[in-house]
Amino acid sequence: MSRVTINDKTFETSIPEAEILKRIKEVAERINRDMAGKNPLLLAVLNGSFIFAADLMRNLTIPCEISFVKLASYQGTTSTGTIKEVIGLNEDIRNREIIIVEDIVDTGRTIERMLDTLGTHCPAGLHVCTLLLKPDKLTVPLNIEYAAMEIPNDFIVGYGLDYNQQGRNLKDIYTLVKE
Ligand code: 5GP
Ligand code: MG
Repeated sequence: MSRVTINDKTFETSIPEAEILKRIKEVAERINRDMAGKNPLLLAVLNGSFIFAADLMRNLTIPCEISFVKLASYQGTTSTGTIKEVIGLNEDIRNREIIIVEDIVDTGRTIERMLDTLGTHCPAGLHVCTLLLKPDKLTVPLNIEYAAMEIPNDFIVGYGLDYNQQGRNLKDIYTLVKE
C-alpha cells in the first residue's frame, strides 16, 4: 500500500496497475467476441477516460475506430439547474455500433444523458464500456454491458481519474482515506 496526498486529501492504493490491465484485457476479449465483423466506433468521454480508452483499444483485435466527446455543462435558460450537452460528435454514427467508453459510472446520470443524445442519431447499437462501476450508487436503470471492475462507494483517483484535475497520471487507482 502506498499513500499520496493531493491538495488537502490523502489517498491509498486500492487497485494496482497490473490488476487494472488484466481486467481491461478481459473486457476487451468480450468486446472482440461480441463485435467481430461490426467495426465498432469507440466514443471516449473526455477527460477521465483517455488512458482507459487507449489501453482498451490496444487490446481490441477486431477492426474498430475511435473518436472523443465531452460533456459541457451550461445553465439552461428555461429550466433550473445545470444541463449537460454532448460536444465534439463529428462522426456520422447512423447505423453504426457505438461503444461509449467511460472512466466511471456513479449515479449513471452522465451515461443516461449520453445514451439519450446519441440515441437520437440512430446508431445500429449503443453499448457502454466503463472502467469502473459503483453498483450501489446507480440511481437510474441502465444496462452497463461492459464494466471492467466494480467498486464500493468511495472516491477514487488515478489512471486518468482526477481530484481537482490532479492525480490523472498515477498508474494505480487510489481510494480516498476517510479521516
Ligand atoms: P455519474 O453521472 O454516473 O454520477 O458520474 C459520472 C462522473 O462523475 C464520472 O464520469 C466522473 O467524472 C465523476 N466521478 C464519479 N465518481 C468518481 C470518483 O470516485 N472519482 C472521480 N475522480 N470521479 C468520479
Ligand atoms: Mg467520466
